[in-house]
Amino acid sequence: MCAEIAAQAAPVLILLGPPGAGKGTQARLLQEAHGYVQLSTGDLLREAVANGTAAGQAAKAVMAAGGLVSDDIVIAILSERLDQPDTAQGVILDGFPRTTVQAQALDQLLQTRGQRINAAISLEVDDAQMVTRISGRFTCGGCGEGYHDQFKAPATPGQCDKCGGTDFKRRADDNAETVGSRLAAYHAQTAPLISYYEGKGVLSGVDAMGDIAAIQASLANIISRATA
Ligand code: AMP
Repeated sequence: MCAEIAAQAAPVLILLGPPGAGKGTQARLLQEAHGYVQLSTGDLLREAVANGTAAGQAAKAVMAAGGLVSDDIVIAILSERLDQPDTAQGVILDGFPRTTVQAQALDQLLQTRGQRINAAISLEVDDAQMVTRISGRFTCGGCGEGYHDQFKAPATPGQCDKCGGTDFKRRADDNAETVGSRLAAYHAQTAPLISYYEGKGVLSGVDAMGDIAAIQASLANIISRATA
């Protein structure tokens, strides 16, 4: 009963934006600051691929080519993750929904849980810069902290600022060719969701070309209004 009450009150925040807009970076910061749980369908799919599950095997080639994995697979993965008890603290959806079918499925999933979308925040960026942003990024294999060759290198080269780890990872799909396909998929299939959420009265836009702290402050303002 208590869990049900908590789940009903749990805020749902959506970060929209093309690959490289900073959704993952900001979702992690929001998770640290507010305790909301970052739900990244990209991370869930990469985990499924690494574990060799049926969903992972079906998704692998599509992800490598920069296309969108089928709605059925992604909705099932997201729905299962939403059922975990930690989501009662509130969630930040990072990379989901990416199609109108997914957005409609999310509406239904939330309705059955007595939840609603508090805010859908569109991170607005200049497409031309996304290839540079994505091509240079890497993460710490130990704690997942994100870095960039040009914009955010570790203070001591080769060592994570946060956990001291020395094992860094680059995503296989963060290369110039695949980024082109990922941006095209964003414009064709995901950008229409901006009007979808505008129509529902939950959309906010944020200029996401500035520095990470300024964008974080804009998000904090929007979220405090949306969850008041
Ligand atoms: P991301 O980590 O969000 O950049 O996602 C990496 C890749 O996973 C994408 O290029 C897609 O192939 C796949 N993916 C992640 N989320 C979704 C989604 N909501 N719908 C379809 N495919 C997705």
